[in-house]
Amino acid sequence: MLSGRLAGSIGTCLALCAFLAALGQPSATAATAAQTASGPNTSKTASAPRFYVDGPLPTMSPGPPTAQVISAKNPVSKPAKRKRLVPRFEVPRGGGRTLYLTFDDGPDPTWTPQILALLHRYHVPATFFVIGYAAFEQPALVRAEVKAGDMVENHTEHHPMLTTLSISKVLAKEVLPVNRVLRHLTGYTPLCMRPPYGDYNAAIGRAMASIGMRVAMWNIDTVDWSRPGTGAIVDSVLAGASNGAVVLMHDGGGDRSQTVAALAELLPRLITAGWHFGTLCH
Ligand SMILES: [Zn+2]
Repeated sequence: MLSGRLAGSIGTCLALCAFLAALGQPSATAATAAQTASGPNTSKTASAPRFYVDGPLPTMSPGPPTAQVISAKNPVSKPAKRKRLVPRFEVPRGGGRTLYLTFDDGPDPTWTPQILALLHRYHVPATFFVIGYAAFEQPALVRAEVKAGDMVENHTEHHPMLTTLSISKVLAKEVLPVNRVLRHLTGYTPLCMRPPYGDYNAAIGRAMASIGMRVAMWNIDTVDWSRPGTGAIVDSVLAGASNGAVVLMHDGGGDRSQTVAALAELLPRLITAGWHFGTLCH
């Protein structure tokens, strides 16, 4: 489904790419360095310009304006307490072994609960980059993510290629509505926006900075949305694991059974190998 609209232009996506790229630095098709302002150095060098593809476009029709519906038909519960947002593991400073698991395109009623259960079983936190209308449709899952100690951040309202839109539309139609919904559901305002397909440019970076947000990218692309096989997903993480690396996986947008199976295999192996896990953005 999602892959249909971009399948023809998908690159190999093997290059490690930028995470939390410095604003204004990247282009839509090339990113070479990764650096988070507060986390460990995650720098890696991309071997070639890459085409970002993080999964098929959603096929669900966008819901009604989220803020309206949240307030009218779907009243929000008491915001989650801030203390729940503290990562369950300290991020080591220098010489540590911390990975950041991220899941995009959810929440999804089938796959998100399975991923949450696995994370809970192994006491591993993650960061969920949710689509606005999916969050609207599954508010209980967003709350469950926050309650579990995971971070929930912005993956736009409708999952478009942002560089095809005007900056005003990016902000008004894709970013700010999701912030409003997540503020209601989580008790905090997202600080990171992950652009669908990794598609952004310097102007979008500046726009994010103007509202106090950063662009969140990744280092390890498991390409799990293409269902390459559980083993391939596992291998991509094991092969790319380095301190501070951000792992891109998906809990929505299609059949994520391979992602779930890969996670079930990865978590005990990574823990046994001494890896710790952190959350992004806050
Ligand atoms: Zn996505």
